[in-house]
Amino acid sequence: MTEPANISKVIVVGAGPAGLILALLLSKGNIAVDIYDAGDGLDSAPRATHYSSPSIHELRRAGIIDDVRAMGFSPDGVTWRDINGKVLAGLSTASLPEQDKMLCLPLNKLMVIIKEHLDRQANVHIYWGHKVVNLHQDQAQAHIVMQTLEGEKTASADYIVGCDGANSQIRRSLFGDMAFPGRTWEEQIVATNVYYDMKPYGWADANFIIDRDNWGMVAKIGTDGLLRITYGDIPGLTREELIARQPMKFKQFLPGRPDPDKYKVVNISPYKVHQRCAESLRVGRFLLAADAAHLCNPFGGLGLTGGLVDVGNLYDCLYGIHRGLADESILDRYSEVRRQKYNDIIDPVSSANIRRLWSDPAKVVEDDEFFHMCATASKDPGFSQKMQLGLNAIMHDFRKEYRPVGHAVPV
Ligand SMILES: Cc1cc2nc3c(=O)[nH]c(=O)nc-3n(C[C@H](O)[C@H](O)[C@H](O)COP(=O)(O)OP(=O)(O)OC[C@H]3O[C@@H](n4cnc5c(N)ncnc54)[C@H](O)[C@@H]3O)c2cc1C
Repeated sequence: MTEPANISKVIVVGAGPAGLILALLLSKGNIAVDIYDAGDGLDSAPRATHYSSPSIHELRRAGIIDDVRAMGFSPDGVTWRDINGKVLAGLSTASLPEQDKMLCLPLNKLMVIIKEHLDRQANVHIYWGHKVVNLHQDQAQAHIVMQTLEGEKTASADYIVGCDGANSQIRRSLFGDMAFPGRTWEEQIVATNVYYDMKPYGWADANFIIDRDNWGMVAKIGTDGLLRITYGDIPGLTREELIARQPMKFKQFLPGRPDPDKYKVVNISPYKVHQRCAESLRVGRFLLAADAAHLCNPFGGLGLTGGLVDVGNLYDCLYGIHRGLADESILDRYSEVRRQKYNDIIDPVSSANIRRLWSDPAKVVEDDEFFHMCATASKDPGFSQKMQLGLNAIMHDFRKEYRPVGHAVPV
């Protein structure tokens, strides 16, 4: 006997981490998914590395957490230091239950794991080289228009989800090219993946440097000695100028003040960073999630974390509709709740994280309430656990909002 199904297909635009996890969740919920991506394969740019407890929850629900744990590792803690390496504050992960500990795995490796799991799902198809250029919708379906090497194509589905990243064409087509409310930081960041031996210096697995000119982060991101070193530089320089300054910058702030023969840079990418959130995450049969919906600076690892919670929530909403456990109004709630979580938590917390880095190291320990909390946490494991799991407040359980609508079927 076939089950009644209210959704015959969902299209996901964007095969980044958010789109891939959404597709995996939907396919496991017996909802067919087509993924369209403009690129020719998985993106390997050096971006997300750290996933805190809300993302771990969604990776667990998607059924991939064991593989992520097997390939990644849990950092021992985080410190904030001055330019000379003196510890100003720290947080240890020792008090956290193993299943809630932050995980570290470079995004390119995480995406390979998700893709391997997706390849086992018969009801998911990925189409590379399909660039969305336009969209429209009617009462029954949503439609996208794409450029491909074989010419223009269209595709249709009950719902289309824009997981197409910061420059989302879905968002631009819905609201206009310039309509992404928020701000762009004046500060310039440069993200590098580097091999450099940090053992002689005894730093934690993740470290922030607080300094007006040389602020940044030095974190272990692989068990083979790979580090992510992200730092601020002068705004207004070209990509080439920023890359040329990298040896001088490392010499100024890395412990040991190394010359280039002491390390190996395997990747370098300058980024501008933004705090922005779309005015709605739903327009009829079109939905937005992750970077297509909202952006924040990377310090504290809230970008993809917020994005994975989006797609977990959106999965619950679409599954509820599919099974007759919710009507379409749950999608308006999705937009409302996710925007609220961004505005109340993700934006202010991530903004405080980056501002802290260029504050005065001589005063910040006294002035910053967050560092008072770190001091309490260092003496009180219960407080430390509560503080580190505070980010779980960005989660929301839409299954508690299910209300049978007519022909509900047993879950
Ligand atoms: C330096 C750096 C460090 C970071 N560190 C962390 C971290 O530690 N933890 C964390 O949680 N977050 C971190 N982030 C943020 C995180 O990397 C992003 O939030 C995440 O990659 C966004 O994923 P996404 O799937 O929404 O979008 P993307 O990864 O950008 O994927 C979008 C996909 O859409 C496709 N696409 C785009 N336009 C079209 C179109 N018109 N048609 C079809 N397809 C299209 C693209 O080809 C791409 O595959 C970091 C970011 C940076 C820059």
